[in-house]
Amino acid sequence: MTTFDSATSATLLRGTPVVPGVVAGPVVHVRDEISPEAIERFGDGGFADADAAMEAYDGAAAAVADDFTARAAAVSDGAAAVLTASAGLARDKGLRAAVVKGLGEGGGPVAAVRAAVDQFATVFASMGGLMAERVTDLRDIERRLIAHLVGEPQPGVPVPDEPSVVVASDLAPSDTSGLDPERVLALVTERGGATSHTAIIARQLGIPCVAGTSGVTDLDEGAFVVVDGEAGTVEVGADPDEAARRVAASLERRAALAAWTGPAATADGVPVKLLANVIDGPSAELAAKEPVTGVGLFRTEMCFLDRTEEPSVEEQADIYAAVLAPFAGRHHVVVRTLDAGSDKPIAFAAHEDEENPALGVRGLRLSIDNPGLMDRQLDAIALAAERTGAEAWVMAPMVATVDEAAGFAALVRDRGLRAGVMVEVPSAALLADRMLEVVDFLSIGTNDLTQYAMAADRMATDLAYLTDPWQPAVLQLISMTALAGAAADKPVGVCGEAAADPLLATALIGMGITSLSMAARAVRPVGAQLSEVTQDVCRAAADAALSAADPMAGRAAVREVLGH
Ligand code: PEP
Ligand code: MG
Repeated sequence: MTTFDSATSATLLRGTPVVPGVVAGPVVHVRDEISPEAIERFGDGGFADADAAMEAYDGAAAAVADDFTARAAAVSDGAAAVLTASAGLARDKGLRAAVVKGLGEGGGPVAAVRAAVDQFATVFASMGGLMAERVTDLRDIERRLIAHLVGEPQPGVPVPDEPSVVVASDLAPSDTSGLDPERVLALVTERGGATSHTAIIARQLGIPCVAGTSGVTDLDEGAFVVVDGEAGTVEVGADPDEAARRVAASLERRAALAAWTGPAATADGVPVKLLANVIDGPSAELAAKEPVTGVGLFRTEMCFLDRTEEPSVEEQADIYAAVLAPFAGRHHVVVRTLDAGSDKPIAFAAHEDEENPALGVRGLRLSIDNPGLMDRQLDAIALAAERTGAEAWVMAPMVATVDEAAGFAALVRDRGLRAGVMVEVPSAALLADRMLEVVDFLSIGTNDLTQYAMAADRMATDLAYLTDPWQPAVLQLISMTALAGAAADKPVGVCGEAAADPLLATALIGMGITSLSMAARAVRPVGAQLSEVTQDVCRAAADAALSAADPMAGRAAVREVLGH
């Protein structure tokens, strides 16, 4: 939505608030495509012969591959595996041979690269599964090769000369891996919402972010804008003095948030459990340095994104021990069993040829046909807990029935560990009281709970208005799960992206949620926000959010309750 303020002659664009903070600076656009004029100017390149054209191709392929390798070295998680695989694909001999063949047909190296990539993309797509997923990476390589050949800047996120507001349609994980938080004041996207890749990365880096901002990609390059990540606004043509005042006030507030060191409690002294979401040993070590009281979600599948074979129990135990060790003797770690399938394809736990993988054999359902997979993982977790002396709780993803929960809990308890299940399927929220009769704790995965409650694919950027955890229907499911927890006197946490939103965190605590688990970077802003409000204010925030007509009205109502 766009509004024009005639008193100040400023234009206000509105989107979904993702990471709070007010910043002001020039717009720099992310380039999705290479200028068609540059490609036309280049034509067939005017090379003396095919050898000279291939020399240009080899130079471009080496530069693209080196760039991927350098970016892989700068990231620590699953993104590194994706980038390394892309470097290999850019250097692929088969792709090169297809380019040689294309050159023989005339038209120059750009046409040859396009034809070769088209051919590979068709083959990958027809193979389905993981290979089909790689078509996006192939297209990214194609754009990069052509940019090199025609002498245009690389597509993707630019490295701005001065601190700037980066504007994009939406960002892919490979785009965001090279982001320099020193030069990026804010991220603003035209599409996507609170759970998009851009939102997740912005939260991890602590960069103010507004998603789903209609009209933002039409702004002029270099236009001066004020971005408010809490209100979800982008203001064009704002008074510079007023903007400087707002930015200074925000910086002061963000410094106060960063200085918050816990322990987490509301203003009237009621303790709150803030936990970290981690994916491997290094992220667990980083999280252990933050004011957290444990790990609320260890996504074990993220350790195996690049593995074709299931690791042995011994190897798995080593991987899990690296996550448990930093918390041993201090806090518990909630380990989630493999959540393979749908948006997290794992080669050794794949269920091929599903019409609708998000509703297919994923998460806990994989162990129906393959019980050994679950047994071996639980053995490895128990071994890691024994070796490190850490307190491991274990939960299963994608649980839909009480029967599934009971069967899983028995397997976990057989190994002397505490058992819980995730609430991601609405049926689990509706039956939370009965689930709690058979498990020790519940953890609400708001990303999937929102997707399934709203029947809206969490990856579909055009459905961001539905995949918003502030949707009143989603909040009702969370609230009824929290009430069941209070009645059973058992912990009910939230570990989806919703927990990282300081505003929503107040409402979740007001509903009776007992722990919030989030990216380590998000812990301080959430802790600081909770320290400013009493339990009564949290309850009022919960009522306001639950009774709002829609997500934006909910945000506005909670901001009013908090006096923001
Ligand atoms: C969730 O669904 O909210 C969740 C925490 O699990 P994931 O995002 O890994 O699917
Ligand atoms: Mg999930």
